[in-house]
Amino acid sequence: MHIMVAEREGAYEAIPFSFDTTAETLSLEGEDYAIVGAIHVEGRVLPTGTRYRVEGKITCTKSFDCDRCLKHTLEEQTHEFIEEFSREARPGDVVNPIENDRLVLDTVVRDTIMAAQPLAKLCKPDCKGLCPVCGQDLNEGSCGCDTFVPDPRLAVLQDFFKDNKN
Ligand SMILES: [Zn+2]
Ligand SMILES: [Zn+2]
Repeated sequence: MHIMVAEREGAYEAIPFSFDTTAETLSLEGEDYAIVGAIHVEGRVLPTGTRYRVEGKITCTKSFDCDRCLKHTLEEQTHEFIEEFSREARPGDVVNPIENDRLVLDTVVRDTIMAAQPLAKLCKPDCKGLCPVCGQDLNEGSCGCDTFVPDPRLAVLQDFFKDNKN
């Protein structure tokens, strides 16, 4: 997935691009999730004289099991990125190197997707999870179990009031 810039040298008009790739092509492996199906990447390259500024938007589908209710979930995601490419850049620089007159986007796209994943994987932001007693999915209704767990901090407070009554 790359954009040729050889014959664009000195030109200042934006270069639009659009690609479809896959997690496999990008060697993108999440520890506890997968990006499934097509990963669509589109955007434009803006030559700025000595550098190229790439503005892109990634659309992909994440497949995972919800951390709270364990439900298998497919989530549509959109991620945006802005990256600079330069002929003077070295590997490891903030600016990406231009390799053989090409702006290679694979690493940028993979890193953008991976860095954007939240630590918690939830089927929806307010997922109620499973009842710790009977395992009922609490998103589908309450089961009526007594799930009250005494808070040890509260117990200390209760003792304090008891001791200070008389
Ligand atoms: Zn859930
Ligand atoms: Zn229950």
